Amino acid sequence: MEERHETVIVGGGHAGLAMSHQLSRRGRAHVVLERGRVAERWRSERWDSLHFQFPNWSLALPGQPYDGPHPDGFSSRDEVVAFIERYCAATAAPVRTGVRVDAIRPAPAADGFRLDTSHGVLAASNVVVATGPYQEPVIPAPAGALPPRVTQVHSSAYRNPSRLPAGAVLVVGSGASGCQIVEDLLAAGRRVFLSVGRHRRFPRRYRGRDMFWWMERMGALDQTLEERPEARERPNPLVTGVGGGHDIDLRHYAARGAILLGRLEAVEGSRLWLADDLDEQLARGDEGVTAFTRSVDAYVARAGLAVPEEASPEPRAVPTAAPIRTIDLAAASISTVIWATGFRRDFGWIRLPVLDERGEPIHRRGVTRCAGLYFLGLPWLYTLKSSVLCGVGRDADHLAEHIASRAAIPALRRT
Ligand SMILES: Cc1cc2nc3c(=O)[nH]c(=O)nc-3n(C[C@H](O)[C@H](O)[C@H](O)COP(=O)(O)OP(=O)(O)OC[C@H]3O[C@@H](n4cnc5c(N)ncnc54)[C@H](O)[C@@H]3O)c2cc1C
Repeated sequence: MEERHETVIVGGGHAGLAMSHQLSRRGRAHVVLERGRVAERWRSERWDSLHFQFPNWSLALPGQPYDGPHPDGFSSRDEVVAFIERYCAATAAPVRTGVRVDAIRPAPAADGFRLDTSHGVLAASNVVVATGPYQEPVIPAPAGALPPRVTQVHSSAYRNPSRLPAGAVLVVGSGASGCQIVEDLLAAGRRVFLSVGRHRRFPRRYRGRDMFWWMERMGALDQTLEERPEARERPNPLVTGVGGGHDIDLRHYAARGAILLGRLEAVEGSRLWLADDLDEQLARGDEGVTAFTRSVDAYVARAGLAVPEEASPEPRAVPTAAPIRTIDLAAASISTVIWATGFRRDFGWIRLPVLDERGEPIHRRGVTRCAGLYFLGLPWLYTLKSSVLCGVGRDADHLAEHIASRAAIPALRRT
């Protein structure tokens, strides 16, 4: 007989587990299918030195606040995995690990869905897709033209400097991943080139508080795209939790010997061609600091908060000479290119009319037009914090409520 579930959650990261908890609280039966292990992406797609980028007090899931000794510290990658594992155990989430979902289709009998998995076919009235905001590596086209002797690694496959061949390393991309990897390489004494792209610097702390504290306090994390439509195109804040958390400033890397370059435009044999946009990118990155500190100052004045005064950090001159427009990989002894160029989502395995022309889910707060099919954990699913750990609980609560109300009115299951 066919195995049937009221709800199947696809993905056993923090989003899938928060969803499981919110359904359990309502007494709704479900199962979580995870193709690897619980928190697989934190285990196998994050580098060794990565730390949680927000203070530990925000390492919190529904029913499990941070209760460790360092609320203002930053947990290591392995501590984040342990936190999620502990959550899974504490909530007794019904997780089946090692089960990959290959397709979700409409059920032949009209009501609900059929899931093709690595362990057979399942049927479900509801499916929550919680397969992550950052799924498939994006590797730009010039990668294909690099000489075979150059080792290429995406940031999701980078672990630590000792795993890379000897020689200089070119990091392409200056988001939080690219910059944190540059710091890792510089600390190991590696010669580093950084191709700088769009980024948005933030001060780690300002006027006595962490930037994330200010964002929460000012309500920025709870803003929706309707309120801030321009926010979708903005790069994520450039922050790190390594070493107790500190500012990221690309000029410091240059002062420590890294060679800053403009955007990578093309590769011809051993030669790289770079855009003449480094100063512009650095200046735009600094605008993040100015905008943030001004908004904090305005908020402090409005709210009448008694916090220390602090001068907004001044950007310094870039210690570069004439812009570098071209580099010969062999002459620069570059043995490795690390692509810190982001991710895309792949929902091609969902065979239902819920994706737009770019393959992105069409939904309202995670609820799709296919009754019973939901998404969770995506950037801006509802608010700015929807795709980070402390933000998923509220979205999961909303979806669990939806699922519970569908179960209460059986006729709705066929709408
Ligand atoms: C480098 C990096 C650093 C980050 N740092 C932070 C941070 O400091 N703080 C923070 O709050 N957020 C951070 N994030 C963002 C976000 O919190 C993480 O991406 C987090 O892993 C997302 O959790 P999730 O449960 O939504 O998805 P994921 O952790 O991606 O979990 C999805 C799960 O689904 C499984 N899966 C996928 N497809 C299938 C399938 N077809 N069948 C079955 N299982 C499947 C995967 O194996 C995975 O375990 C970071 C992201 C990145 C890339």
